[in-house]
Amino acid sequence: MAKEYRLLLSFTDKEESHTLEAYESLGGYRGLRKALLEMTPQEIIDEVKKSGLKGRGGAAFPTGKKWDYVPKDHPGPKYVVDNADEGEPGTFKDRELLFKAPHLVLEGMVIAGKAIGAREGYIYLRYEYLWLFDRVKNAIKEAYSKGYLGKNILGSGFDFDVYVYLGAGAYIAGYATALLESLEGKRAIPRIKPPRTSRVGLYGKPTAVNNTETHATVPVIISKGADWYSRLGTPESRGTRLFAISGAVERPGVYEFEMGSLTLREFIYEVAGVPNGTEILGVFPGGLSSEILTPDELDVPMTHEDLERVGSTLGSGAVIVVDRSVSALKLLRRSLEFFAYESCGKCTPCRDGTNWMTRVLVQAEKRGYATREDVNLLKEISRMIRGKNFCPLGDSAEYVARSILEKYEDELLRKPVAA
Ligand code: SF4
Repeated sequence: MAKEYRLLLSFTDKEESHTLEAYESLGGYRGLRKALLEMTPQEIIDEVKKSGLKGRGGAAFPTGKKWDYVPKDHPGPKYVVDNADEGEPGTFKDRELLFKAPHLVLEGMVIAGKAIGAREGYIYLRYEYLWLFDRVKNAIKEAYSKGYLGKNILGSGFDFDVYVYLGAGAYIAGYATALLESLEGKRAIPRIKPPRTSRVGLYGKPTAVNNTETHATVPVIISKGADWYSRLGTPESRGTRLFAISGAVERPGVYEFEMGSLTLREFIYEVAGVPNGTEILGVFPGGLSSEILTPDELDVPMTHEDLERVGSTLGSGAVIVVDRSVSALKLLRRSLEFFAYESCGKCTPCRDGTNWMTRVLVQAEKRGYATREDVNLLKEISRMIRGKNFCPLGDSAEYVARSILEKYEDELLRKPVAA
């Protein structure tokens, strides 16, 4: 049976793990001490680069490289932003970290601040995590009280403040440039890129936006060393990863594994368990924005490269298991409905394409099956959306639509047997 490797989650195991006392007893803030008192900003960046850490939000961009893009000679303010928007359906790993180990995230943010030369950090919490707001605020207060935040942290001469901000509840705010718009008090609509947020970010200043799990990994890398960390996982997918699993499984939840140490099938059947008699329709391996895999495509190691090889993605590490109590038609309609609802409306292919597909699918569902004309039309709209969008939401809708249309075409066309 595949064994969990609780590296970040080890900070959540203790009772009252969210408190500073519990966190310190587990070696918390050791990485910060080392980063602030023994390392230069460039040494921190180089260490994170050497570790091979890639962003854990979905895009998997190398973290050290992102930090290195932030101009070193910028005279004004720079910012660190923690992306805790976590709006991808099926994703709830960052919630686990902020609820049970908020100091791990704060520690990572201060280290990021020292690395890029920022003095302020913002945690962008999704509106639906309102119940987490006070817990995060209390952790910030505790960190100030022990000198881990504020002026002259640990006597290093480095100052850093952290604020927590509650979003207004839009999926698109999980996309970095839309998040920054929202953080500035505007509607969450993606900005044009380039310039990168590392050069022109929050309030037009250089900003490092990283996912919560990414920030939580940084203290571990700094305290244990990049050499140690990079020995975990595979050459292209280093370290451990938090995986959230939900849907038709017996033990949904957040698990942590060394990357590549188990296959998707082992995760679903051995770790999470599938109830007796349950037949799986398909699995989204990286949140709803990943291409669906059929039951015979699950023998794939859980790494970026292996999932890409089978035409999908590791995404946000959220595995959604769909059983056959849901028809392929309903799954496709429900998925498209989500993207249509969440489209910010800025570009026509995404805005109109997702709505048009939803309308076709609602009619098909009422009928009980899709006609050949429906399927052809859906494929044509999907093709029109592909690659013509301003941000990844439109393409995500297209991936899901295309993968379900291709893999479940017979089922979509099948007329229900009359009772
Ligand atoms: Fe908005 Fe969709 Fe265009 Fe993204 S792809 S900018 S969500 S309309």
